[in-house]
Amino acid sequence: MSRTLPVGTVGGGAVGLKTYPQTLRLAPGEVVLTFDDGPMPGRTEKILDALSNQCVKATFFMIGRNAASTPALAARVAKEGHTVAYHSMTHPVLRRLPFERARADIENGYHAVDKAVWGVARERPHQPFFRFPGFADSPALNQWLASLDVVAFGADLWASDWEPETPQEELELVLGRLEKNKGGIVLLHDIQPRTVAMLPQFLQELKRRGFRIVHIVPGPGELETKPAPAGWFSQTERILANQGKPAGQPRRAPPH
Ligand SMILES: [Zn+2]
Repeated sequence: MSRTLPVGTVGGGAVGLKTYPQTLRLAPGEVVLTFDDGPMPGRTEKILDALSNQCVKATFFMIGRNAASTPALAARVAKEGHTVAYHSMTHPVLRRLPFERARADIENGYHAVDKAVWGVARERPHQPFFRFPGFADSPALNQWLASLDVVAFGADLWASDWEPETPQEELELVLGRLEKNKGGIVLLHDIQPRTVAMLPQFLQELKRRGFRIVHIVPGPGELETKPAPAGWFSQTERILANQGKPAGQPRRAPPH
């Protein structure tokens, strides 16, 4: 662990260059590990063990219904010092739902996670970090999250672990992307067996190559960001726009 980075959330905001034209103020070589879609018995434990073996902390964007079905595992994530964050209740494409239904799914999600992890669900979320499934945000939902002082997390790069790749292929892909990007917020999935399989070696390689893991935690004040490099464009919007096109046109599975 190189350092803990407090992330201010007053007034909301959004980070992650795959979707947004700004990201966290990380130094070159710094990496923020994020895991989505858990907790999942049999897999999240192995992710936690691998992180513990290397003494590093990560952020877990949990699905509410998963946390509700395995509360002890959800609570273990927090007990071991990782950051718990939210990823909706049922993982829908939120921007395609009517606003009230989308908001209810997000609220149900953080209530379920808070109940599982801390034993109590309040009107406002216990933690101020949220990630939209598939990064499919909307202006109205962003505005509502901002009113709750919640920051929306995209990612600077991902391991494409929703694709049919081997653990070795995933390892090489994500390390290559990290070398090219000189670090950043990396999206992984603790529910993916290939990610579970490659994580111990991935963490060792990060250390060997001189990357430093940064643990993000909620902090005081407003979100501080750095702008995207020149020539930036949203890769998420392109992927989302490609979904639902007729067969035969190029399309890729959505990031989760
Ligand atoms: Zn997801």
